[in-house]
Amino acid sequence: MKKIVLASNNAGKLKEFGHLLAPLALEIVPQGALNVPECAEPFGTFVENALAKARHAAALTGLPALADDSGLCVAALGGAPGVLSARYAGEPKSDSRNNEKLLTAMAGQADRRAWYYAALVLVRSADDPQPLIADGVCLGEIGHALAGDGGFGYDPLFVLPQWGKTVAQISAEEKSQISHRAKALQILLAKLQETGL
Ligand code: IMP
Repeated sequence: MKKIVLASNNAGKLKEFGHLLAPLALEIVPQGALNVPECAEPFGTFVENALAKARHAAALTGLPALADDSGLCVAALGGAPGVLSARYAGEPKSDSRNNEKLLTAMAGQADRRAWYYAALVLVRSADDPQPLIADGVCLGEIGHALAGDGGFGYDPLFVLPQWGKTVAQISAEEKSQISHRAKALQILLAKLQETGL
């Protein structure tokens, strides 16, 4: 079975990837299990950061690497927090402080439109000249208060208008049908089938 390193230390994402990748004949190893430290994410776009993370993990392990860079973009905030989503309220990273800051930034704001975005990059080696790249979007609205205790990150504030619930109020199975990461992964897997690993 092919082994792939998953270039993330985010527990919420690792859980989701475990669920999404379970049906594949691939051995997925989180980078933490191989002592790969977190990679810097200095770029202004999700895809550049995902490529940096994938290359970093492949370079340190000698394995093919899959990375995701994702975040929340809010229309009324000009796309913020965007690539800064994980650290919106500063260091150390904190989902609860990020959500608090988002609620404050959105106080009195009528336009609540927002979307999650994920860029996925798979490299066969650190200097792979042809990384496989896919992306996905999940549309929603920023709620006026936290609701639900599932998911991670901004999920308690991210309302799915067609469900009338936040992402933190739906099951992991339901999230894996509609999430930005799931959509990107489907596209990536189709490319993988076309090109092979
Ligand atoms: P990254 O690890 O740099 O890609 O940071 C992604 C950040 O975006 C996370 O820490 C969350 O704050 C946010 N994010 C990305 N995907 C999701 C999601 O599915 N639900 C909630 N927050 C998310």
